[in-house]
Amino acid sequence: MKEIVVISGKGGTGKTSIVASFAALADRKVLADCDVDAADLHLVLNPRIERRQDFSGGKKATIRADECIACDRCIEECRFEAISYPENSDTPQVNHISCEGCGVCARVCPVEAVSFEPVVNGEWYVSSTNHGPMVHARLGIAEGNSGKLVTLIRQEARSIAEKEGLNYIIVDGSPGIGCPVIASITGADLVLVVTEPTLSGRHDLLRVADLASYFRIPTLVCVNKWDLNPEITGQIEEEAESHGVKAAGRIRYDRAITEAQIMKTSVVEYTGGAVSGDIRAVWQNVVYALG
Ligand code: SF4
Ligand code: SF4
Repeated sequence: MKEIVVISGKGGTGKTSIVASFAALADRKVLADCDVDAADLHLVLNPRIERRQDFSGGKKATIRADECIACDRCIEECRFEAISYPENSDTPQVNHISCEGCGVCARVCPVEAVSFEPVVNGEWYVSSTNHGPMVHARLGIAEGNSGKLVTLIRQEARSIAEKEGLNYIIVDGSPGIGCPVIASITGADLVLVVTEPTLSGRHDLLRVADLASYFRIPTLVCVNKWDLNPEITGQIEEEAESHGVKAAGRIRYDRAITEAQIMKTSVVEYTGGAVSGDIRAVWQNVVYALG
């Protein structure tokens, strides 16, 4: 069983469209949407939820008004300025969006008026799709700890793949180079970086490629909409090669990619045109690189 993670330096590069097409092309696979801060693979693959579970990314503080003596120690010690007096109240309150769950307020409170309990930050799901099982999640607005949720989704996808003897785990990874993307790629068999032919795309690719090489994960690059700037596409591929990242192919600009999204289907199912051929070639190169 092989795990392929598709990532990009930033959102909006067409990463999810490519993952959806891989879902249609790959034989015996499980899908994992680890782009938990902006999950949208479900918009294309129409999952039918079969199991749902709460996700708790950590603890948050809550002040029990009936026990608080308003000494203000917690307000003074909270480095995140998460505690204040609401208007017309003589008991301080914790703002759960600002609370980072460090637990200091609970430790300094002289009367133990602060409870520090796990909170539900979101939900995760195991679903069925027309292309096999899918693990995905929904994180609450402004909730942190998405790295922990990404790890959980990958573990669940792996356990499904092992149980069902599947060939591939295809992961729609988090964009950027922060904690969620590190959680998306560690231990994967191959990373495919999707980028666009722009200067920022070039910069993002190199940052992501360095990250993958730090974790010693074989990495390929694919330039989406390459024909919008063939010169930068060539530069991206050259620079990638000098960082040990081989080109997996180029995908041309085609309105069919957006149309497929609107029709809630993958590009390779929506059209048999040239862009579909581009994506098929990228998938074949990914399979070849996996050995
Ligand atoms: S847990 Fe930490 S961040 Fe949250 S309110 Fe208490 S001191 Fe502030
Ligand atoms: S430290 Fe405890 S008693 Fe003092 S204001 Fe905070 S919650 Fe209330």
